[in-house]
Amino acid sequence: MDIASTPLELVRQKIARAAKIARREAQDVTLIAVSKTHPAHQITPLLDQGQRVFGENRVQEAQEKWPELREKYAGVELHLIGQLQSNKAEDAVQTFDVIHSLDRPSLLKALAKAMDAAGRRVPCFVQVNIGDEEQKGGCAIAELPEFLEQARAANIPIAGLMCIPPAEIEPAPFFAFLAKLAEDNGLEGLSMGMSSDFETAIMQGATHVRVGTALFGERG
Ligand SMILES: *Cc1c(COP(=O)(O)O)cnc(C)c1O
Repeated sequence: MDIASTPLELVRQKIARAAKIARREAQDVTLIAVSKTHPAHQITPLLDQGQRVFGENRVQEAQEKWPELREKYAGVELHLIGQLQSNKAEDAVQTFDVIHSLDRPSLLKALAKAMDAAGRRVPCFVQVNIGDEEQKGGCAIAELPEFLEQARAANIPIAGLMCIPPAEIEPAPFFAFLAKLAEDNGLEGLSMGMSSDFETAIMQGATHVRVGTALFGERG
């Protein structure tokens, strides 16, 4: 029987279990601990337990919080999971190691320029509007092949696809659809699954799960 003494251990156990059922290796699933809104003193316990991959949704918050933590803990990898404005592209490229929210041509141009200026290529997931929701960010499904072509032409490394499925509906079909789109476009990375559905996402092929509440508790 598994006994988890911390939320991080419990989430890791759940990842391992879901991977095992899906005949996958747990190490092929990267846990992104989403630390947005949580202050440094709530993050250090996870760092002390060996967690090194974290997600933030705002550039400015990450710039304020992480330099000091990075000085104390080697090997931190920071992922931007929130919407990015073009005028923050330069800051984002300097602060983050992976960007999960590449979703429109204007941002593509800004990021390409920022990466050229910084001399640093930051891998990006293309966020897909998988539920075809009007109010939601993300590249439209029909425009994905052309957008990927533009990204490659701009020399932006594409890590894979990312989605946030519609709320209050069973997410599994949307995860499966994102996996199909990735396969059709020759991409391996799949950033999908949050606290309430990361095990489902792993069974549908997620390579990156973005988990906040299950690790840190409710956001204030
Ligand atoms: C906040 C956030 C998460 C984490 O959500 P939880 O339900 O707290 O696990 C994951 N992905 C994105 C894009 C987010 O903004």
